[in-house]
Amino acid sequence: NLFAHCSASDNDFWFPVNSSASGYPTVKLFIDGKIIDSKTSEWLDVHNPATNEVIARVPKATQEEMLAAVNSCSRAFHTWSETSILARQQVFLRYQQLIKDNIKELAKNITFEQGKTLADAEGDVFRGLQVVEHACSITSLMLGETLPSITKDMDTYTYRLPLGVCAGIAPFNFPAMIPLWMFPMGMVCGNTYLLKPSERVPSCAMLLAKMLQDAGAPDGTLNIIHGQHDAVNFICDHPAIKAISFVGSNQAGEYIYERGSKNGKRVQSNMGAKNHGVVMPDANKENTLNQLVGAAFGAAGQRCMALSTAILVGEARSWLPELVERAKALRVNAGDQPGADVGPLISPQAKARVNSLIQSGVDEGAQVLLDGRDVKVKGYENGNFVGPTVLGNVTPKMKCYTEEIFGPVLVVLEAETLDDAIKMVNGNPYGNGTAIFTTNGATARKYTHEVDVGQVGVNVPIPVPLPMFSFTGSRGSFRGDMNFYGKQGIQFYTQIKTVTSQWKAEDATLKSPAVTMPT
Ligand code: NAD
Repeated sequence: NLFAHCSASDNDFWFPVNSSASGYPTVKLFIDGKIIDSKTSEWLDVHNPATNEVIARVPKATQEEMLAAVNSCSRAFHTWSETSILARQQVFLRYQQLIKDNIKELAKNITFEQGKTLADAEGDVFRGLQVVEHACSITSLMLGETLPSITKDMDTYTYRLPLGVCAGIAPFNFPAMIPLWMFPMGMVCGNTYLLKPSERVPSCAMLLAKMLQDAGAPDGTLNIIHGQHDAVNFICDHPAIKAISFVGSNQAGEYIYERGSKNGKRVQSNMGAKNHGVVMPDANKENTLNQLVGAAFGAAGQRCMALSTAILVGEARSWLPELVERAKALRVNAGDQPGADVGPLISPQAKARVNSLIQSGVDEGAQVLLDGRDVKVKGYENGNFVGPTVLGNVTPKMKCYTEEIFGPVLVVLEAETLDDAIKMVNGNPYGNGTAIFTTNGATARKYTHEVDVGQVGVNVPIPVPLPMFSFTGSRGSFRGDMNFYGKQGIQFYTQIKTVTSQWKAEDATLKSPAVTMPT
């Protein structure tokens, strides 16, 4: 039984056990290898977004608990950082297999707590699994450099070494993938890790932690605390924490970047987005419309790489009615229902915010070509559903364009030429992802060359790089110097020690002190 401590509720998937006085399951802390009940008096409700029922309660960890977690990380660092790289690699080789064996179970947990469809939840786990698989190449990834004979009898070589305790602060939209961007890369380098999952989806990370323990990670190498601002401030301020990986909104990300950096920590902060799909009239129409609709409305638009903005160039403007028809055909339903394409939003507040941004578009002159605000889902009347919505006649000044909507809303702009489209994309403050749809190589090259966005797809709507590359969102979508995973991820989680050594033959020994700077 892999999840003795996170055993099944009366549904057939893993969830925190029912142990609190209130009658709700309570999410535990994971401290020093033990799954423990928090002693806090402050709890937050966790809801099933399809029904809005409270399904669990998550603690705001106390200061003592957070200290115990970071102290556990500090103690474990001494042995884990000295554990052979082959032994660390073995832990992650076993871990990737455990995740692979349990993808469906993890996906069910995600759908219950986060709302996305089961198939999409499997994708969530799978994209995180790929990072774990990549982490297993650590024996090559962590190699240093050498240069022999930099002068007579002298050689220089570098080691990549872990930093110490690292921490991750995760968002709600990818309960598996984003934690898996964080602790496996940090830990395989020899760091120990303190994770704070999103308080809205806290239990998937607990399952992932238990599986890592089952894979052989020693006690204290991964600790999990729960909470909101206090936990975030604790992470930004505690001197033992050397680096922070954050993924989430700009509001939180810029704050964490500033507070963590001021305290001398490395911070990488992946934040919000407004991703444009530029549609050229020479594109493969069928393929492009399907790609656009999938990438705009999949995960109910709650992806930082959702293609939430379309720019139709030239004659491609006439494709709009067909785009709307395809969006209309998507089925809105609870994520665990067969055939569901679009699940609920995370919370009633998220739904209200999305609806108000749609209304702001209407008020500013946009045309609602498809309105998902009144969608009704039979049997799930209290869920946070918004159906696919398409806004036409949008201009760059409108609020529905300047703000990240993070819902199933596609805003459509028009441009005369490719140059006009590029100008529009480069004028937007975000730089997470973009895509161009075309069959012309020169057009594609011009776009990839001139667009100032960190991740570009050519006929690929969501160009999230595989983990041998890095996740390279730019401009307003990122703060920091080194990106997540890939080579940059290794750089982020390691520091370099450069050794210069001289071994002289006996007869070359210096006969007097050398007081000048060596040349
Ligand atoms: P969020 O910023 O609300 O929460 C993320 C984390 O920060 C949570 O753990 C939360 O507890 C904490 N937090 C929230 N508000 C805070 C505050 N004011 N001060 C300190 N900490 C705070 O984000 P979310 O709603 O969970 O996630 C959605 C956002 O994440 C979207 O903007 C999306 O674009 C972004 N995102 C970005 C990427 C990326 O790689 N660029 C990936 C996924 C999501």
